[in-house]
Amino acid sequence: MNDTIASVATSLGVGAISIIRVSGVDSISIVNKLFKGHNLENVDSHTIHYGHIVNNDEIIDEVLITVMKSPKTYTMEDVVEINCHGGIASTNKVLELLLLNGCRLAERGEFTKRAFLNGRIDLVEAEAVSDLINSETDVERRVAIQGLSGNLSNLIKNLRRDLINIISNIEVNIDYPEYQDIYEVTKEDLKNKLPNIKSKLERIIKDYETSRLLYKGINVAIIGRPNVGKSSLLNKLLDEEKAIVTNVPGTTRDIVEGTIYIDGIKLNIIDTAGIRETDDIVESIGVEKSLEVIDNANLILLLLNNNEKLTTEDKKLIDKTCGKTTIFVVNKNDLQSKIDINNMNLENVISINTLDDIGIIELKNKIKELFNIDKLNNNDSIYVTNIRQITKIKECLKIIHEIEKSIESGIELDMLEMDLKEVWHNLGLLIGDAYDEELLDDLFKNFCVGK
Ligand code: GDP
Repeated sequence: MNDTIASVATSLGVGAISIIRVSGVDSISIVNKLFKGHNLENVDSHTIHYGHIVNNDEIIDEVLITVMKSPKTYTMEDVVEINCHGGIASTNKVLELLLLNGCRLAERGEFTKRAFLNGRIDLVEAEAVSDLINSETDVERRVAIQGLSGNLSNLIKNLRRDLINIISNIEVNIDYPEYQDIYEVTKEDLKNKLPNIKSKLERIIKDYETSRLLYKGINVAIIGRPNVGKSSLLNKLLDEEKAIVTNVPGTTRDIVEGTIYIDGIKLNIIDTAGIRETDDIVESIGVEKSLEVIDNANLILLLLNNNEKLTTEDKKLIDKTCGKTTIFVVNKNDLQSKIDINNMNLENVISINTLDDIGIIELKNKIKELFNIDKLNNNDSIYVTNIRQITKIKECLKIIHEIEKSIESGIELDMLEMDLKEVWHNLGLLIGDAYDEELLDDLFKNFCVGK
């Protein structure tokens, strides 16, 4: 890290401006050699200067130069950014001159790697930078920003602090049994402390499953007997969200499908109503088809008719949704209520009609609640999408389960200390408190050049 690195930070191609970033001890002096304007060695930090990049007497480009002195910079080193005209030839020429005058071409992600190695960010934050750059959807962007917020890092740091307290207490008890005034940790203490650590890690895993779903889109199946209002609900939802309705061929009968977004989260809606229109089928086939769709859905909207008593098919469908995330949508609440579901103890019952919006809003809120969609907008929440991080958390959980089992089977505390240390160590690997070079190389390879 003693050398000075340079690379083009903006995407290569024709554009109004491109930025060449230089970082390292000699960045200011190297750029100064090529700059005709203020003497950059004498300027204040975080200032911008107009002038020209020159090669001897030849003017290469008219530029604006930002000088940022260590330590308050992206890499914590002296950083100079050259804003030049965005043509490929001029950008390459400026970069070439920098390389000829003592800079080394930066590797992928090397600026962020330096920020990490110099202690400005931890590994979780470095990965969030990469995720942010690579995010294609708004959901991905929101999740990445949370990684940068430091919430996960802080949680892990706190857990490690709790663990090291326990570990050091155990060690003191073992090494200095004669000290009476030092609190003696018991297996019971450990048993009481582990659930808290475990629940925090388990929460991260659970939210990870949800966030993956939010990335891919939630498959929503609208099911129910013919005439309960499935198509009407689909149209109402699609119409409101101005989504595109497509007929997906490939099945013997068409299934109407559409995509809507609730707060930026994709919902792939499948409605089984289409089969009735394309085929002269009896009610039982409709139910059969619905059953197939249930299996592939993350959320089921089971429609029931408020104006009729529950039929055998309704009850069969209710049974089939058991164990699945389901909202029971009682439709046609503008008509007289004849439905008898009160004694069925159903959770997530929403009463709607497809003629107005009141129930529909409630339905959407219910979907948001079931999938924690609002949490994505909450700055305090922790969403992990990174496989490396999740694997580490799962490893820690596994060890904690083993520790709990060992406590039950009467194993002594000093034997458990090793396992506790392993959890502590794994959490350290997660945030990069300990790392190996290979991991870093692998990780930063995924970055673009110039970041
Ligand atoms: P599907 O067979 O389940 O797809 O049902 P449809 O959406 O085709 O609706 C069946 C009938 O119920 C149609 O005549 C709709 O106009 C009517 N319908 C749908 N929703 C409502 C509602 O909320 N209130 C009333 N009164 N009628 C509705």
